Amino acid sequence: HEHEHEHAQRDDLIFSFEFFPPKTEKGVENLRAVRTQLAELKPRFFSVTYGAGGSTQTNTLNTVLEIQRDSDIEAAPHLSCVGSSAEQIREILETYRDNGIRHIVALRGDLPSGTRDIGEFRYANELVEFIRKETGDHFNIEVAAYPEMHPQAPNLKVDIDNFVRKVNAGANSAITQYFYNADAYWHFVDTCADKGVDIPIVPGIMPITNYTQLARFSDMCGAEIPRWLRKQLETYGDDVESIAKCGEEFVTLLCENLLETGAPGLHFYTMNRVEPTMSIWRNLGLSE
Ligand code: FAD
Repeated sequence: HEHEHEHAQRDDLIFSFEFFPPKTEKGVENLRAVRTQLAELKPRFFSVTYGAGGSTQTNTLNTVLEIQRDSDIEAAPHLSCVGSSAEQIREILETYRDNGIRHIVALRGDLPSGTRDIGEFRYANELVEFIRKETGDHFNIEVAAYPEMHPQAPNLKVDIDNFVRKVNAGANSAITQYFYNADAYWHFVDTCADKGVDIPIVPGIMPITNYTQLARFSDMCGAEIPRWLRKQLETYGDDVESIAKCGEEFVTLLCENLLETGAPGLHFYTMNRVEPTMSIWRNLGLSE
């Protein structure tokens, strides 16, 4: 009986995996293999990033269309609006709709430094509004959430109010920036609930493999690596195996804690790799 209960729970949870669009033929083949293996975990959707790291809209489109065509898992393209015209966004939405895509991760994005023309959309809430106005209820819309605050926000309260704006513009669900402090996540979720937000806010999970890279990236996007964990990871130096092992243990505990305390699911930043997402998944005992 208890087992049945566990299965029902697994079905209620929202699991998703994020990929970046490969730029080379080798990268394309790698992602094919990766997503085929991860598809066996039966996530709700695979999302594909947009415009980050110098990739183009065509890279995202090709990746998303292949997933939509060749796999049983729903494909959800990320779409950022800053620097685009309404007409450009309208065309992209049309292409996605014509190809059977029903799910979009709607973002503001970041202008490359030095670029001045912000285009017709300033913030993600304007994109969400536009998608709803143009396409009604066709798309399931995800938005981004920052439990440790978006780096450009003046303070957490204002940032949460801006998040609520996106929800009220018609988002169905949210995915967080990665974090390693579960308390920050619950503070964010509880504050949003007090403001009437009732959509799922799914924790974004970044596995820890390369410490130097993670530390640099975390400074940029405003995610804190707790001091004690940093200190521990630093003691391993170039010993990548020990870093990966320590990271896997820590992130597994974080996920366990989040699910036990009632998080609605998990969104994994896979970095187009099967491991370490798969090992965390196995540790959680989530597979049938
Ligand atoms: P917004 O929600 O618009 O917020 C941006 C800033 O403006 C915040 O400081 C907010 O407080 C403030 N703000 C928001 N609305 C208003 C308003 N109406 N008035 C005044 N201030 C406001 N980037 C990519 O380039 N490609 C991707 O594929 C991508 N995927 C991502 C996926 C996830 C799950 C996450 C968490 C981030 C992703 N990003 C991606 C990064 C994201 O584009 C950046 O963090 C960007 O700086 C903010 O985007 P946003 O949609 O959260 O913006």
